[in-house]
Amino acid sequence: MALYRDDGVVLRNYKLGEADRIIVLLTRTKGKVRAVAKGVRRTKSKFGSRLEPASIIHAQFYEGRNLDIVTQTETLTVLPKLRSDLGRYGRAAVMLEVVDQITEDGGSHPALYKLLTGALAELDREGNPLVVPAFVVKILALEGVQPLLDTCVSCGRKDDLVAIDISQGGVLCRSCRSGDPITDVARAALQSIMDGQVRHVLETTDEATAMQLESLAARMMEQHLERRLRSSAVVDQHLTQ
Ligand SMILES: [Zn+2]
Repeated sequence: MALYRDDGVVLRNYKLGEADRIIVLLTRTKGKVRAVAKGVRRTKSKFGSRLEPASIIHAQFYEGRNLDIVTQTETLTVLPKLRSDLGRYGRAAVMLEVVDQITEDGGSHPALYKLLTGALAELDREGNPLVVPAFVVKILALEGVQPLLDTCVSCGRKDDLVAIDISQGGVLCRSCRSGDPITDVARAALQSIMDGQVRHVLETTDEATAMQLESLAARMMEQHLERRLRSSAVVDQHLTQ
């Protein structure tokens, strides 16, 4: 059996049989990997605790015919606050789910790996609610669907922009509005995040705007995932016809 080593973030895990678990990881070099952790539910071991969601690990794998087997693991980045704080852990869970949904098994996603490990470390350090919106915006950019934020996507108007609708491609003025309401402050913060000034936004945004951006980001991601799902369903239809 071929042996390989890789770094990875545990996205989720689920039960297999009596004693095993299947671990889903986003690895640094081999993309999304599904691997069996044998006997991990029998004992309360360090091996098991390193395979909990959001763990960033270095591991050894045996290549199997169907599923790989994960054997040795060591923690690469310790995230103590993320583990002990439910709010932070909830935000991490959102990011892990997004990554799980936009990736297929295999492939290679080095930019995504870097983005995810960076965001998890940031969340552990700061616990700021803007970490998730910043993450979502960068994911949308990686996927090539950055929303337009300074012009109404329907009529081209540049003022009185009051709503955002990702399915339309960005913000909308009062007369064209659809989707979710957005304030000027939230829109400006979103623009700064897109321009790469995340640090500045983290430092200057008030709590209410941060909360608005967090729920907006969740909606943006939801709409993006729905659209992805629809377009892949269309592709499947073509393939089976
Ligand atoms: Zn308009």
